[in-house]
Amino acid sequence: MPATTPSVERQLPSEEAAALLDLTRELVRQELTPKAATYEAESRVPREVFRTLGKAGLLGLPYPEQYGGGGQPFEVYLQVVEELATVWASVAEGVSVHTLACFPLATFGSEQQRERWLPDMIGGELLGAYCLSEPQSGSDAAAMTTKAVRDGDDYVVNGTKAWITHGGEADFYALMCRTSDDGSRGISCLLTPGDTPGLSAGEPEKKMGFKGSTTAQMHFDDARIPADRLMGEEGQGFRIALAALDGGRLGIAACAVGVAQGALDAALAYAKEREQFGRPILEFQGLSFMVADMATQIEAARALYLEAARRRDRGQSFGKQAAMAKLFCSDMAMRVTTDAVQVLGGYGYVEDYPVERFMREAKALQIVEGTNQIQRLVIGRHLAQGT
Ligand SMILES: Cc1cc2nc3c(=O)[nH]c(=O)nc-3n(C[C@H](O)[C@H](O)[C@H](O)COP(=O)(O)OP(=O)(O)OC[C@H]3O[C@@H](n4cnc5c(N)ncnc54)[C@H](O)[C@@H]3O)c2cc1C
Repeated sequence: MPATTPSVERQLPSEEAAALLDLTRELVRQELTPKAATYEAESRVPREVFRTLGKAGLLGLPYPEQYGGGGQPFEVYLQVVEELATVWASVAEGVSVHTLACFPLATFGSEQQRERWLPDMIGGELLGAYCLSEPQSGSDAAAMTTKAVRDGDDYVVNGTKAWITHGGEADFYALMCRTSDDGSRGISCLLTPGDTPGLSAGEPEKKMGFKGSTTAQMHFDDARIPADRLMGEEGQGFRIALAALDGGRLGIAACAVGVAQGALDAALAYAKEREQFGRPILEFQGLSFMVADMATQIEAARALYLEAARRRDRGQSFGKQAAMAKLFCSDMAMRVTTDAVQVLGGYGYVEDYPVERFMREAKALQIVEGTNQIQRLVIGRHLAQGT
C-alpha cells in the first residue's frame, strides 16, 4: 500500500515556488507512487522517471535560468526533493546527486565551459554522477589514488572510484582525481563524459535499500579526458568537492525528512484504521505519544535543514549548518522509520507496506555524503575555530 500524500504546510517564498511544489506532488502521485514498490523490489532504475522530472524542469532547479535552470532558491529545490522522498527515496536522492554533479561546472567552470555544457546537463535529458570515494578512501577522501596525467590536450586517467550513485547509468561524471602528490592540494576535478573510452562500470552493488538506484564502482583504464574539461584550476578539486558536498548534504537532509514524513503518514493512516481491544490503536496513549514524537522530530528536522538552506540563499556561510542538518535529519529518519515499523506491528515488517523500505532507506542516509561521524567531525572543527 502506498503512503498517503503528506499534508505538510509549507512556507514558500513565491507563488512560482508554490506552483512548483504542486507540480511535484502531482508527479509524485502519477509517476512515482504507482512504480516505487515494484521497481525497488525488482532493483529497476527508473530512468524514464528522471526524463519526466527533467522535462518538468525539476533537474536543474537551483541553477540559473540563463543556462536553462529553474533559478530557484535552495529552500525551494530542497522541498521538492523532500516531496519526492516521501514516496521514493531512490528518485529523490538521484535528483540530489544529479544536482551535486552539476555543481563543479555551474560554480567553478569558466563562462565558455558553462555555455557549452551546462544547458544539456540541467536540461533534463542527461543524468549526472559524483565520483569522490574510492575502495580504500571513503571518509578520508583526500587519500584518493586515482591519477590523471597530462598528455598533450588530454588527461589520461587510471584508477577506481567506488560507491558511485548512477555508476554506469550516468551521462557525465564529476570526477575528483589526483594530478599531483601534494595531498588534498593535488586533486583536480574533471567533467567526464559517460561514453569516454576506457571508462567502465563494475557490477552494481547488492544493497540493503535504494535498490532502484544503481551504485557501482567506476574503472578508469587509460581513459582520455580532454583537458578543457578541467573544472577550476589544477589542484582546486578537493575544495570544489567539499563545496559541492555542503549543498549535497542539504539534499540528503531533505531526503531524510521526506522518508520520515512518508513513514509517519503511513503509520498514522494505519493506526487510525487498525483496531485491537475493540478500538483503533491510535487511541492507545502508548501509540499516540509515539506518533506525536515522530511528528515533532520531523518538524524540528525540517526547520533545521530549511534554516541552513536559507542561509545559503542569503549568501551566508552554511557549511556547519549543512553538516548539522545532514546529521540530525538522517538520525531522526532512522528513529522515526524504526518507530513506524513498530506502529504497524507484524505488518510493518513485511513488504505489503512501505515502512520497512523507508527504514532501510534511512540507514543509507546516515552513511552517504560523509558518515554521521564525519558530520560531527566537521561540526566540531567549526566550533573549535569559532566559525
Ligand atoms: C548507497 C550509497 C551511495 C553512495 N554514493 C556515492 C556517490 O555517488 N559518490 C561517492 O563518491 N561516494 C558515494 N558513496 C560513498 C560514501 O560517501 C562512503 O561510503 C562514505 O563516505 C564512507 O566511506 P567508507 O564506506 O569507505 O567508510 P569508512 O571511511 O571506511 O568508515 C568506516 C567507519 O569508520 C568511521 N570513521 C572513519 N573515519 C572516522 C573518524 N575520523 N572519526 C570517527 N569515525 C570515523 C565511519 O564513520 C564509519 O562508521 C555512497 C555510499 C553508499 C552506501
